Amino acid sequence: MPELRKDPVIGRWVIIASERARRPGNFVDTSDNDIENENGECSFCNNTRELIDCGFPSNGVSVVLSKDSVSDPKKEFHRTKQGLYDVIDQFGVHEIVIETPEHLANIADLNIDQIASVFKVYAARMAHLEKDKRFQYVLAYKNYGPTAGSRNIGHTRSHIVATPVQPLRVKEKLLGAKEYFEANKRCIYCDLICQELESSERIVTETQHFVALIPFAARFLFETWILPKDHNCDFHNGIKGHEKDLALIMQALLQKYQKGIDDPAYNFVIQTAPFYRTHSNNKKWKTIGQDYHWHIELMPRLTRVAGFEKGTGFYICSIPPEDMAEYLRGIEI
Ligand SMILES: [Zn+2]
Ligand SMILES: [Zn+2]
Repeated sequence: MPELRKDPVIGRWVIIASERARRPGNFVDTSDNDIENENGECSFCNNTRELIDCGFPSNGVSVVLSKDSVSDPKKEFHRTKQGLYDVIDQFGVHEIVIETPEHLANIADLNIDQIASVFKVYAARMAHLEKDKRFQYVLAYKNYGPTAGSRNIGHTRSHIVATPVQPLRVKEKLLGAKEYFEANKRCIYCDLICQELESSERIVTETQHFVALIPFAARFLFETWILPKDHNCDFHNGIKGHEKDLALIMQALLQKYQKGIDDPAYNFVIQTAPFYRTHSNNKKWKTIGQDYHWHIELMPRLTRVAGFEKGTGFYICSIPPEDMAEYLRGIEI
């Protein structure tokens, strides 16, 4: 079973999945170990695993547990100290969302109702996992294409991972948003949306409830954020009734990627508020409902992260965000 280990200096948690590393040819991909069955067939077309009930008719979207997931809903997680080091004996729950029964590779090729159902399923599973007191955070994400960590076998699926700790990257965002709120009494994302819509130079596209833009300080080529215009810190609450609108903007954006930048490998991650504000009376995060704003980050894999980025945390983006936005706006779909 994979375990969680904490870097004692900066507090970043790492999943050590030793049994995978030993498998030849499986050094890069740590999240899509479930794609082929023992006969080399697509295990999502030929699913034999038990389906997880989403609580509503899910339009052909199904959810299964990953092989490396904790499967016992009552299993306690044990945190131990090894001198300086912290270890947790399990990393959490990992569910796979099989987005369609059809063997299609790209979520952009599904119809709008199907994509909307995928978001509805994410929300249902996140709401369900929030009730589990063992977890502090849930991430829904997608890897598309081999360089984004997905095997080169095409069956569109995504992942939901619930962890017993708070990821460092999320903490940085929460702290930044909280500081801005303390100084200005406003949500930084709401202000950002306002400013971006006013200037419009980094806007790629928008719908009634969402805006897609290239961030001012983009790290990667064609990095794009999808932000809900209505304020909500949680994906699973904020998305209610807007699933179809999110499907529209996601599909539009991915079709622009397909046509304009040659259908690149990409990752998307849904950045939602952590659970533990509801699990404890932690005063530190009491304004999170006002200061944090859920959003989606899409990151095409067009360049590799090199030494400078790894050594400094600076990223080098070789095209100005304004030019990338103008280019994507101009791609007819
Ligand atoms: Zn398949
Ligand atoms: Zn906001």
